Amino acid sequence: MARRKQIYEGKAKILFEGPEPGTIIQYFKDDTTAFNNQKHDILEGKGVLNNRISEFVMTGLERIGVATHFIKRVNMREQLVRQVEIIPLEVVVRNYAAGSICKRLGIEDGAALPRSIIEFYYKDDKLGDPIVSEEHITAFNWANPQEIDDMMSQALRINDYLAGLFAGVGIKLVDFKIEFGRQYEGDMMRLIVADEISPDSCRLWDLETGDIMDKDRFRKDLGNVIDGYREVARRLGVLRENGNAGSKGPVLVSDNDEK
Ligand code: UDP
Repeated sequence: MARRKQIYEGKAKILFEGPEPGTIIQYFKDDTTAFNNQKHDILEGKGVLNNRISEFVMTGLERIGVATHFIKRVNMREQLVRQVEIIPLEVVVRNYAAGSICKRLGIEDGAALPRSIIEFYYKDDKLGDPIVSEEHITAFNWANPQEIDDMMSQALRINDYLAGLFAGVGIKLVDFKIEFGRQYEGDMMRLIVADEISPDSCRLWDLETGDIMDKDRFRKDLGNVIDGYREVARRLGVLRENGNAGSKGPVLVSDNDEK
């Protein structure tokens, strides 16, 4: 069998050429990094969980009319996605203060924000992904004003959808990061959601206990990182208790549900 052509290897994923022009195979690795690659570990099973969780979320977004790059999951670690031209920005939506905004603006960890806040970061590891304003984005041609408006309105819709989805399974959506790509179809171009949406890119806290169920468990050396990811998958209904994946929809979390 011919070896697949690798297009790109990132910190947590590998992209291979897809079976048809305009498609890509996205492979989820177990590698976990933080603090701009200074901290690295292999968390066994993380890639499998993120593949499932991202599939579930992207499929849900498609259902409410948000276009994404997701086409289908092909196996435990891979999904078929549309090829896009990635916009070099990380779009972060925050509902509660955590992480960098606490340090930058002196806000208490966990404080409710007056409204959902959208931030843009320029994707450049060498620079440590600096926060940028719309002025920088348009001046340096990373995106035009219309694309910025589009990303902002899509980000808010995604936030509404995700916040509701997670609240329904007893999880507070503190913040998350998404990426957009340009998809060309003949003369037409549209912005679609790319990359992944998973506990690697969201802050997810248990609504009742405040337990952290996302990558902060790794960043802050809290241990049991995979247990947090697995619990998110279980509650979303993409993972049964016995570990067999089978998408039956979200699992409502009752007061006396096992934690
Ligand atoms: N995030 C991400 N990739 C990055 C930086 C941030 O997925 O390269 C996510 C992070 O998991 C969190 C949100 O974006 O859900 C906001 O992150 P923040 O700016 O607070 O940065 P951090 O404190 O994680 O460095």
